[in-house]
Amino acid sequence: MSPLIDGKAAAARVLADVQAEVEQLHAQGIEPALAVVLVGDDPASHVYVRNKVLRAGEVGIRSLEYRLPAEASVAEVLDVVGALNVDPAVHGILVQLPLPTHIDEVRVLQAIDPGKDVDGFHSENVGGLSQGRPVLTPCTPAGCMRLLRDTLGDLSGKHAVVVGRSNIVGKPMAALLLAANCSVSVVHSRSIEPQKLCSQADIVIAAVGRPGMIGASWIKPGAVVIDVGINRIEENGRSRLVGDVDFAAVQPVAAAITPVPGGVGPMTIAMLMHNTVLAARQQTGQAIQEAR
Ligand code: NAP
Repeated sequence: MSPLIDGKAAAARVLADVQAEVEQLHAQGIEPALAVVLVGDDPASHVYVRNKVLRAGEVGIRSLEYRLPAEASVAEVLDVVGALNVDPAVHGILVQLPLPTHIDEVRVLQAIDPGKDVDGFHSENVGGLSQGRPVLTPCTPAGCMRLLRDTLGDLSGKHAVVVGRSNIVGKPMAALLLAANCSVSVVHSRSIEPQKLCSQADIVIAAVGRPGMIGASWIKPGAVVIDVGINRIEENGRSRLVGDVDFAAVQPVAAAITPVPGGVGPMTIAMLMHNTVLAARQQTGQAIQEAR
């Protein structure tokens, strides 16, 4: 059995570092603050926002919640974002996705000040990431990189296959792996023989949203497997969370693997706190300089 990559423990280490940085900022009279904008009644979004606010409080980050009704107009959402952009007491802005379908998500994300864009979804940050500039980086892929570095150390020369090409996970993940000197392949729904490509990889990142799609035959013996997927399934009348990887089948083959839950999930929220502190430091004249 390959060892489990413990995302909870890794996230606790990130949060301990964040807390120490927050204390340093407090000593300088700076109170890092994260504003979360939630539009509508999506129950999962409410849970995510509650968890983010709770975690912020635990590390000393002030959080502000802005809740708008599902029928809020684009203009109303943009007004909130605009006010937060110019508020010097707010360092990070997160608009919880998905937005109700009548709201143009790209327009809202592009309205966020890139320096406060702690999700890293603004095109300024996306472009900076692909150019290797030190920008605010999407939290889930950034968390995956921490787990990979903790497990493998230097990633140079590794062949990494990313399954999935979404803007929030797959594409930034590929950019980060490339920046870490991996050879990167990205597999998606139109790929020919995705299983064959995947089975050549030293590192597999699964971000598909299909429960258990990646089985043992997709994995080269000794590969490191990071499962980003979070899928709720019903089994024997009970509901539970599973990843995109068939965990029971892959664990005997892989060198190391993340569980679901308890793998990537806790890292995402920890990296959000990390980004908020980076944003606060940058806005208060302390440059972002960090290794990815
Ligand atoms: P998404 O936007 O739906 O993207 C899914 C990607 O998978 C797409 O690029 C799609 O290809 C590809 N795909 C679908 N079926 C495929 C197949 N049969 N073979 C190969 N590729 C296939 O999903 P997402 O937002 O990236 O999220 C992916 C998963 O990660 C979900 O389970 C989500 O809940 C989870 N997630 C977890 C966290 C966390 O904190 N742990 C954060 C974000 C997301 P096309 O582009 O060709 O359609």
